[in-house]
Amino acid sequence: MRIVFVGPPGAGKGTQSQRLLHYLQIPHISTGDMLRRAIADHTPEGRRAEQYMVKGQLVPDDLMLDLVSRRLDSPDCDHGALFDGFPRTVPQAEALTQMLSNRGTPLDIVIELRVPDAEVIRRMSQRGREDDRDEVVAERIRAYWNQTRPLLNFYEQQGLVESVDGLGSPDEVFSRIKRLVAQPKQV
Ligand code: AMP
Repeated sequence: MRIVFVGPPGAGKGTQSQRLLHYLQIPHISTGDMLRRAIADHTPEGRRAEQYMVKGQLVPDDLMLDLVSRRLDSPDCDHGALFDGFPRTVPQAEALTQMLSNRGTPLDIVIELRVPDAEVIRRMSQRGREDDRDEVVAERIRAYWNQTRPLLNFYEQQGLVESVDGLGSPDEVFSRIKRLVAQPKQV
């Protein structure tokens, strides 16, 4: 199964992804994690990406597409994938559709995790990650609404989107998600 997870920063995508991965036994494609690893490894891609990440801005599409396309070439992705934090722009979504169609493995479902902005800010103020400082959080939320939210229209046109209420305990949210992956939309 191929799933895209969309939601504002701090919506609980990380927590819910971990549960879903174990439940479905599919690889996790978290571009945020991949970028943080590239930075830690001091690769040229890491150095380039870092300049955007520290400001809460999106990393340019060309870098992201290289990263994801290489990842999709590993054999473990033949069985499915959970895309977490990717795509984040409409051009990335279009490129992903193309990459998956070339491989004969289209997306099954796009899950939108919905959490109000006030709750996002409250949750992120408790996390303490380097890019969780107030002004960076504000920029990341802006990037979400301006650049990422329009993805949902793109996927809605394909009948792929299912929205999940992200409020409540992690168990409650996960049981909502499980119901969706048990019965993905027929398109
Ligand atoms: P995340 O861990 O998914 O919240 O990502 C952390 C940061 O990495 C984001 O604020 C962006 O700067 C960058 N990033 C991660 N994924 C992408 C993507 N698909 N496109 C552009 N930038 C990304």
